[in-house]
Amino acid sequence: MFKRMKPRYKYDNIYAIDTGEMYASGIRGFFFDIDNTMEPYSTPRPGKRLTEWLVGLDSAGFKIGILSNARRERIEHFVSGFPDGLKEKIYYVCDAGKPLKKGFRKLCASAGLEPGQAAMVGDQLFTDILGGNRSGLITILVKPIDPTIEPPFVRFKRFFERPFL
Ligand SMILES: [Mg+2]
Repeated sequence: MFKRMKPRYKYDNIYAIDTGEMYASGIRGFFFDIDNTMEPYSTPRPGKRLTEWLVGLDSAGFKIGILSNARRERIEHFVSGFPDGLKEKIYYVCDAGKPLKKGFRKLCASAGLEPGQAAMVGDQLFTDILGGNRSGLITILVKPIDPTIEPPFVRFKRFFERPFL
């Protein structure tokens, strides 16, 4: 249990990820959590910086996925905010049920990746990191973009994350 809470890598934010190193180590896809990982909690559409960074990831040969416990409407609205040429390339699983393995497996299968070729990037230990590790993915923990606007249940979980950080 404790070992499975440990991310393989830690970065301040997604933009700090050393994608060259990831590629060299065999990673061919990044799966992202949305809320407080890609954008602040409940941000309806992706911003310019995120979009440009993902275009770069795509050009560098990475598959891009979104694995979120949010509802389909939220995720599809978010994905529709990416420009043509990028949004069609984004694989996503809604209501993923992280940390259950199901969503991770589904996303690997649709992106055509083995679990060990995919990196799960997220801000929460009990969903993103635990689920990614259980499913055999490489895990990357980032700091939450803005923890002050999280709903109470997320703050509740943060309290229990503290001993692991
Ligand atoms: Mg999150």
